[in-house]
Parts: sequence; structure tokens; C-alpha cells
Amino acid sequence: MNKKIFFLFLLFFGVTIYMDAQSVEPCGTTAAWNHLLNVHPELAQKRINTQKQIQDAMNSGIVHSRDVLVIPVVVHVVYKTQFENIPDKEIFSQLAVLNQDFRKKNNNFSQVHDSFKGLATDVGIEFCLAKVDPFGNPTKGITRTSTNIANLGLQYGPNGERQRIFYEDLGGVPAWNPDEYLNIWVCELGATLLGQASFPGGLKAEDGILIDFFAFGTQGMAQAPNNLGKTLVHEIGHYLNLKHVWGNHSGDCDEDDGISDTPMQEKPTKGCPGNRPFSCGSFDLFYDFMDYSSDACLAMFTKEQGEMMVATLQTVRSGLLTQTKCQTQVLEHPLRHIELRGNPAGENFVLFLSEGNIFEIGVTIYNIYGQQVLDTQNYFFPNEQVVDIHQLPQGLYFVMLTSSDAKVIKKLVVAR
Ligand SMILES: [Zn+2]
Repeated sequence: MNKKIFFLFLLFFGVTIYMDAQSVEPCGTTAAWNHLLNVHPELAQKRINTQKQIQDAMNSGIVHSRDVLVIPVVVHVVYKTQFENIPDKEIFSQLAVLNQDFRKKNNNFSQVHDSFKGLATDVGIEFCLAKVDPFGNPTKGITRTSTNIANLGLQYGPNGERQRIFYEDLGGVPAWNPDEYLNIWVCELGATLLGQASFPGGLKAEDGILIDFFAFGTQGMAQAPNNLGKTLVHEIGHYLNLKHVWGNHSGDCDEDDGISDTPMQEKPTKGCPGNRPFSCGSFDLFYDFMDYSSDACLAMFTKEQGEMMVATLQTVRSGLLTQTKCQTQVLEHPLRHIELRGNPAGENFVLFLSEGNIFEIGVTIYNIYGQQVLDTQNYFFPNEQVVDIHQLPQGLYFVMLTSSDAKVIKKLVVAR
């Protein structure tokens, strides 16, 4: 290839990539709902009834004074290339983000403007990977299916009615009973759409959430600016009946999201604004998970959004709360429950935790002079994790465990 052709080649692909980046649609939930209504007009009334049930529950106050609610999740990885057959760790990284963000334990909350911090809430919902499948058998809560259909998540069947990903006869992977599991399909969405969720009151066979590989989890295929796991947080907001903060239509101040403590907002936010955007007479709450901002600055749900989601779970999605699919207990301060075993240690020691929902920790080891002696390593818990320390000389050390919201220090003796 001579230099001129090479330059044209670069220009062409450079422009293509630029255009792709411009045409990415963060969320296909409203479009999918409108398509569903066209095919099934009867769902309009069902949705109205569903909304009323949820609103009645909110008004009754049952959303307050309760335990943390746990939603069992199954992740269906539908891959076309081996690269897309993402490892379990990438899935754990996404669950860990959910368990931070729905408990207000996310460390990017600190960047929320002070005037908005008081609006934020610990929603009080956590997520587990199902341990029991629909047949009663043990499972990791992950299914893996290969496909040769490109962008399967975007495709519809021959008459344009059914979305293929949900139906086995159309090459998809059917949901586990959506009354009992939150189904999440990680699949190709043409790199043009990040995610899609179903509102409560939709079609049972198509109930759940689709996420593109590029916007799922925090490692591996996840790509900036959607590589902090916030796309799924947003889509679960829809799944639990939340609208976008600007309402159904952008470009005006005529319509709200039906939530009284989110300010009126004209349109979606892009990126992470340096100046505070202002519309409809107030500053925009672009930190809200139901906006389109980049993952880095999506950091909170408001109190009433939290109440809406909890009310949804306690009424029209209450089948998720039977607690038989995960059989784990919620730990309020999980880091404190991690045991350090095998101390004094020789070549390694063990970190152990058997209960709780998935979270991520960093492990850093210091000597008695406060100097870090090994690179920080990240692990997901609950787990039994062997930490290799064969290169450390004998002596006394301090092991610091760090999660998004807490730190714990343990003594370690290396003796051989
Ligand atoms: Zn959305």
C-alpha cells in the first residue's frame, strides 16, 4: 500500500469510526416499547393497570421500613466470536457495580454537586447470580450460547413482530421464568445501541434487559465512556418502572418523568459536562442514572426514584423476591466479614467469605515501615481466594482490604 492510499485508508476508517461514535444510541427501551405496542395494542391497558398498582403502593407507604431486597439474576451470554464469550469475572464486575450503585456505595458519588447530594438515596436493592435454575438444579446464574447471527439483539423474526434474541425458534435464548429471575442478555447490538429494557407490564416472553458487550461490566470488552457498568444500572431503572429524567420527549419542558424530586430537564446530557447545564428553570441532575451522561459521572438515584423501584418490586415484580433462587444473606458491611486464613503464612494466605452478594475488593500489602511491597490485586467476593506472597521475606506485614466504601487492615506474619 503506497502512502497516499494508506492515508485514504486511514481517513476512511477514521471517519467511519467517528460517525459510529456519533450514532450510538444509549438506550432503546422507549423504541422497543413502542414497537411492542404496535404488535400488541392490548398491552397499553395492561401497562396503565400496572402503573396504577405501583402508584398505589407508593402512596400507601409500604416502601419504607423494610429489609434490603435481593433480585436473582441470570446472565445469558450470546456470543458470535470467542472474544465475546466473556469470562465469569467480567460478569462479576458488572454485578459488583450494581451492588454499589443501588446501595449508594459507589465512589463516584463524591463528585455529585453538593446541592444535589441530599436528594440521593440508598435504594436498598442488591443483586445475586442465581444459584438454582428453573429445573431446581445448581447453577452459576450464567448461560452461554453461540450464534452465527450478526447483531442478534437487533433482529426481528420474518414478519417483524418478535425480537429474535428472546425466541429459540428464531435463534435466540429464551428467558428463565421472568416472574422469578431478572434475565439479562449480553449480546451484539450492532455497537449502535448500548442497552434495552422492558418496562413492567410488557410481554412476558420478552421481559428482561439486553446489553451490548461494549457497555457491560468494567473489564475485558467494556469500552470507555461506557466501561463502568452504568448502562445496566440505567436499564434496571426502566425495568423497575423509571423513565428518563427528561420524560418521554426531549427538546421541551412540557413533560416530566413523573418523579417529583428530579428537576425538570429539557433533554439528555452527553458526556460529563464541565459547566452545570441549566434547563426548564433549574440545574440539570446529570448525575442521575436515568440520564445519558457518560458512566464516569452517573452516580445517583433520587429518593422518589428509589421508592418507585421498591414499589415495583413489591407489587408487579414481587415474584423476584421469593429468596429461593440465591439463598444468601445480605451483609451490611461485607468487608468486615472477610477472614484471613493461614496466618502465620508461608508461600500464601487465604481470604475467605461465604455469604453476601458480589462485591469487589483491592488487596494491598504494606511492611511495618508503611511501604507497599506488592502490587494491589483485585478480587471478587464471596470467594475463597489464595494470595501468593512467596516473594515476601519473613516478617510482619499489614494487609489492607479496600472496597468502594470501606477499608479494613489485618496483620499478617510471614514465617517459613
Ligand atoms: Zn433509557
